[in-house]
Amino acid sequence: MTPDTLAARSLASVWHPCTQMKRHEADPPVAIDRAQGPWLHGTDGRRYLDGISSWWVNLFGHGHPHIRAALADQLARLDHVMLAGFTHAPVVELSERLGTLTGLGHAFYGSDGATATEIALKMSAHYWRNAGQAAKSRFVGLAGGYHGETVGALAVTDIALFREAYAPLVRLAATVPSPDARGAQPGESAADVARRAADALAQWLAEHHATTAALIVEPLVQCAAGMAMHDAEYLRQARALCDRYRVHLVVDEIATGFGRTGTMFAHQQAGIRPDFVCLSKGLTGGTLPLSAVLTTDAVYAAFYDDDIARGFLHSHSYTGNPLACRAALATLELFDRLDPLAHNPALAQRIDAACAPITRHPRVRYARRLGMVWAWDLQTTLPDFSRRYHRHAMARGLVLRPIGTTLYAMPPYVLDDEAVQHLGDAAFAALEATLAEETAP
Ligand SMILES: *Cc1c(COP(=O)(O)O)cnc(C)c1O
Repeated sequence: MTPDTLAARSLASVWHPCTQMKRHEADPPVAIDRAQGPWLHGTDGRRYLDGISSWWVNLFGHGHPHIRAALADQLARLDHVMLAGFTHAPVVELSERLGTLTGLGHAFYGSDGATATEIALKMSAHYWRNAGQAAKSRFVGLAGGYHGETVGALAVTDIALFREAYAPLVRLAATVPSPDARGAQPGESAADVARRAADALAQWLAEHHATTAALIVEPLVQCAAGMAMHDAEYLRQARALCDRYRVHLVVDEIATGFGRTGTMFAHQQAGIRPDFVCLSKGLTGGTLPLSAVLTTDAVYAAFYDDDIARGFLHSHSYTGNPLACRAALATLELFDRLDPLAHNPALAQRIDAACAPITRHPRVRYARRLGMVWAWDLQTTLPDFSRRYHRHAMARGLVLRPIGTTLYAMPPYVLDDEAVQHLGDAAFAALEATLAEETAP
């Protein structure tokens, strides 16, 4: 590596996320020059299939002409205006569309997923305060839950590696057992596990509801926990319990939203209506940072008052940025035009077939899929399975980053037959190459 490569300059000037920087001594970051459809093109002239949608944000591939045209048009009209005291067509139209899609209203915007979590938690607690129940200011989440990594969001993110160093800064929320279907005892179904987890939630709420503002859940798939999937029964029971104990239900659809699990939003598979929904990641089709929180009329009404302090005074400089909102509108237009909810099941079956050698691999446990999310748990003695696998996949032109020993794929919705086959072949070859290192000297 010569010192003037982008990778070397990056290591000298950029602090990369979610990374022990010293590890880049062995594996320098890969410089990407351009991207088209599901492919990333490196400055090294190689191409890499984006098997995890660039951290779960991309839906319709990179550089989609419809989103590009919308952004070019918006940039020529209005780049940005503050949203306090002003409004504009992209934010109004997007809010109307998200309202129709979620059955909730009054979209409040942030810039990324963690800020959506912050907004939902603050709104919930402030609601109870406005309602004369200020004691309801604590939160409860699921074991292994992930809702972002800002100090507030870390309170409900139950992943030790991300949280431990900051424990003194965080007002830790309670955690109740996850309904993760892998926890099934012999003879138990996924729905049985869900009911068992709901019983634990019921016990917890019975004791703590008077001080609890909200339960926050990732519906159907706890992605960062390693694609832990659960039965929709859990969400139905959680909804009923939150109603009974007067606790808000916050549904974090940041990763599961926008068709990822087979329906527009995962919670819709349970037929429930949450009190808050958090959206981000796929919201702009993977082009620009944007998040939104939608809530009920009842919550909104509790803030509507002559008293300024009863209002929700939260703000970010770029709240409701016109370019980001326009990218989101263009993404929703692509849902109408391309109808991925209708077409993804057939695509998913082709990917199932291409990945069958992984699913059948003798070291794989709990092969699972929901919508456009695949996961396989590996039995391996390699403590750094994830890093080794990632390296072997990259060498084969495929981006996959296992979470611990869980290999997963979460590709964009636009893989052609060649890309599908490449995903299956490269993912399997990388697995064989990684496992071969178990016995290597
Ligand atoms: C990624 C993620 C977040 C955080 O989003 P950022 O944009 O990374 O801050 C929150 N919740 C869930 C479920 C996520 O997957």
